[in-house]
Amino acid sequence: MLKEKEKILRREVREFADRELLPQAIELESNRQFPKALFSRLGELGYLDLSYFNRRETALHNTKESMIILEEIARGLPSMTLSMSPHVQCMNLIALYGTDSLKKKIIPACLNGSLLLGFALSEAGGGSDALGIDTIARRDGDGWVLNGEKCWVTNLGAAGGYVVAARSANSGRSRDVSLYYVDAAAPGLDTNGRIMITGMNNSPVGTLKMQNCQVSSECLIGKENDAYPLIKVLLNEGRLDMAALAVGIAQGAMECAVQYTSRAGRYGHTLSSYQGISFPVAKMYEKIFVARSSLYHVAEMCDAQEKVTMEVAALKLFTSEMCCEVCKNAMQVHGARGMQQYSDVERYFRDAQMLTIGEGSSEVCQIVISGKLYHANLGEQY
Ligand SMILES: Cc1cc2nc3c(=O)[nH]c(=O)nc-3n(C[C@H](O)[C@H](O)[C@H](O)COP(=O)(O)OP(=O)(O)OC[C@H]3O[C@@H](n4cnc5c(N)ncnc54)[C@H](O)[C@@H]3O)c2cc1C
Repeated sequence: MLKEKEKILRREVREFADRELLPQAIELESNRQFPKALFSRLGELGYLDLSYFNRRETALHNTKESMIILEEIARGLPSMTLSMSPHVQCMNLIALYGTDSLKKKIIPACLNGSLLLGFALSEAGGGSDALGIDTIARRDGDGWVLNGEKCWVTNLGAAGGYVVAARSANSGRSRDVSLYYVDAAAPGLDTNGRIMITGMNNSPVGTLKMQNCQVSSECLIGKENDAYPLIKVLLNEGRLDMAALAVGIAQGAMECAVQYTSRAGRYGHTLSSYQGISFPVAKMYEKIFVARSSLYHVAEMCDAQEKVTMEVAALKLFTSEMCCEVCKNAMQVHGARGMQQYSDVERYFRDAQMLTIGEGSSEVCQIVISGKLYHANLGEQY
């Protein structure tokens, strides 16, 4: 399943996570800050130089290698993978469709981890409707002025810049949307709207407000009024990232379960000596194995530049629900100790909860799949 190069990469990232993420995960969790120094370490190690579908040719890692990196980092510190996802997606978008001056200014910093990015699409009206956008971009001389509010923006306050989706024409067509790079220091941008959510403590999430926020001409990404195809790509790639995040979290939770239930308990028995305990743990392995195999398979399809919208939706749906189930069962075999705040198994459980919501909820993934099943020509799919 893995080539020699991929096995080596996996070993290296796992060792990094064991050495630099896992030992401080609980302490980091309790301070709730984005760990900037660790993010720079990722840059140093080349773990931010990820590209999917071979779209950025100079990238160090293809889709499958990217999934390995994101998964192994998630096993150590899930919120780091969550933060990496919009960063990498926005960086690749700018590298492919940004103006030359913007690329020059930000891509090297994105790769070395000195600049973090965020993606601002969702709005209060409902994130499931990706084109339900009320944020307005109005032409102002050579540039634009943005007004509106974006919800649930990952990396809020920690990012040095955001890719913002805004309605850019008065046509009334929901697809007349453009993407802009907005520097965190831009006049009129307010990044103080952090909201505390369940889990993912080190990946700040919240509301990004723009009030007459000025954006210069170099900051348009792609064509004006034609961002929808780019947004679709970004959402698809984000779903892949969530699948890697789910596999990594589930692996971490299963390891906690194995470790805890292997310890000698009362009367010299281990909990694992009861099949009522060891069988659910075996089922965790089964589900993670299937999820990981599917993740790598879909990643290989991406590297072969196949169309994978339906497969990615199915993968995201399966892996996120699998992860929530594994974490719940891992907690169960710990008894009350599993509920102790800031224990490893409890933090994995909390971190898993966003997976069935973010980047296309389970319901939205089912809409994508059923839409293809009932309305597309399936000749090519089967
Ligand atoms: C931790 C976290 C990080 C996030 N990071 C970002 C980010 O960086 N940038 C960004 O732009 N957004 C981000 N989001 C927002 C995320 O993309 C949205 O939460 C998601 O798209 C769902 O939108 P919503 O929360 O507004 O729910 P809604 O769209 O209001 O949906 C509410 C419920 O109704 C269901 N539903 C909606 N429509 C239908 C339908 N047609 N049929 C059946 N069921 C339906 C949904 O599945 C959900 O269960 C993040 C969210 C989380 C939790």
